[in-house]
Amino acid sequence: MSYETPSAAIYLKPKRVRPVERRHPWLFSGAIQRRDGDVAPGDLVSVHAPDGKQLALAYYNPNSQIRARVLTWRDEPIDRDFWRERLARAINQRSALQLGPQTNAVRLINAEADGVPGLIVDKYDDVLVMQCLTAGIDVRRAVIVELLVELLAPRAIVERSDVAVREKEGLPSRVDIVHGDLESRRVTIRESGLRFLVDPLHGHKTGFYLDQRQNRAWIGRRALVADREVLNVFAYTGGFGVYAAANGARHVTNVDTSADALHEAEANFLLNAIDPDAHAFIAADAFQLLRDYRDNGRQFDMIVLDPPKFAHTQRDVKRATRGYKDINWLALRLLRPGGILATFSCSGAISRDLFQKVLFGAATDAGRTVQIVQSLDQSADHPILLSFPESAYLKGFLCYTW
Ligand code: SAH
Repeated sequence: MSYETPSAAIYLKPKRVRPVERRHPWLFSGAIQRRDGDVAPGDLVSVHAPDGKQLALAYYNPNSQIRARVLTWRDEPIDRDFWRERLARAINQRSALQLGPQTNAVRLINAEADGVPGLIVDKYDDVLVMQCLTAGIDVRRAVIVELLVELLAPRAIVERSDVAVREKEGLPSRVDIVHGDLESRRVTIRESGLRFLVDPLHGHKTGFYLDQRQNRAWIGRRALVADREVLNVFAYTGGFGVYAAANGARHVTNVDTSADALHEAEANFLLNAIDPDAHAFIAADAFQLLRDYRDNGRQFDMIVLDPPKFAHTQRDVKRATRGYKDINWLALRLLRPGGILATFSCSGAISRDLFQKVLFGAATDAGRTVQIVQSLDQSADHPILLSFPESAYLKGFLCYTW
């Protein structure tokens, strides 16, 4: 890949210059006054103020509402070295997290937040899973795969470009092994000394919810969980449940609508020398099941609520808020006095403030006193770019209630 010259120049509307100067990486269609030159999806363009001053270099997609994503605010060549330096910086940062030998699964590239818009790369032991979210990354896939091989020498690279956002970019879904080979369908990873099966080709996202690693560690604190009866709602492959059971929980009930995910959860219990028969795995709708538990007077000492994204856009916020309130209200009703609630929202459109207010509403309606002992965040390998608040999405609270 040689040095790319911009295919076109785009000129911004006067009022849309400031956000780019402040290093927000997205340029919506409405921000662009005019374009000089022809472009194909993914092409490099230069970005200019109305007076002609160059502000940035970006990749462009005429099919997307997010017309361009900024690669650099400097005037620098976009070539193989550029991509190498971007990838290497993010990868080196992860080494500095010192996750230690007990953990070998980590997000290496977190898209915009790592200066590589549209690219996610997760590492599961020696297997990489990459997700190309945009045309700009899609057209540069070959060089990215080549650089990942050069920098990390992985056993295999799996591409999981099967996310809904690709439709908004006019891109088809693609799932493939793009380098090396998978010996078996699943990779066994280590996280904080525990072991989990990850299915890179079929699992959710890239296979595992790495963003919850630090929060799972909270649930793995023996003093919090020992001898407790735990309800792990939205369990997926059992993440929080394994941490709880491995650290002395008396009984863990794992709930998810996906029976497949729960089979994996059972396998993950076994993998950590925990007898799955001593715990419960229930395929059910969480809202319905928690209502049934309430009607039957069922109680727990600890509840983890890690629901999927309820709000995909700003328009969903109101409806999502009702969902969060409902599930938290139910959970609070099911907790014994002195019980612990770990509750999360991964909706970017729901701020931490709003989530706290929703929890307050749920507590009020449930007639419970709730005390936050720890605010919970996305793990450090999912950095947040100050100039791109969209990169902060996961928030949670660890609470006592009585
Ligand atoms: N806590 C998990 C990740 C949860 S992801 C971990 O640490 O790995 C959210 C999960 O919620 C998904 O597995 C999805 O199948 C499940 N889910 C979605 N809607 C649900 C519902 N209404 N009731 C129960 N589970 C649901």
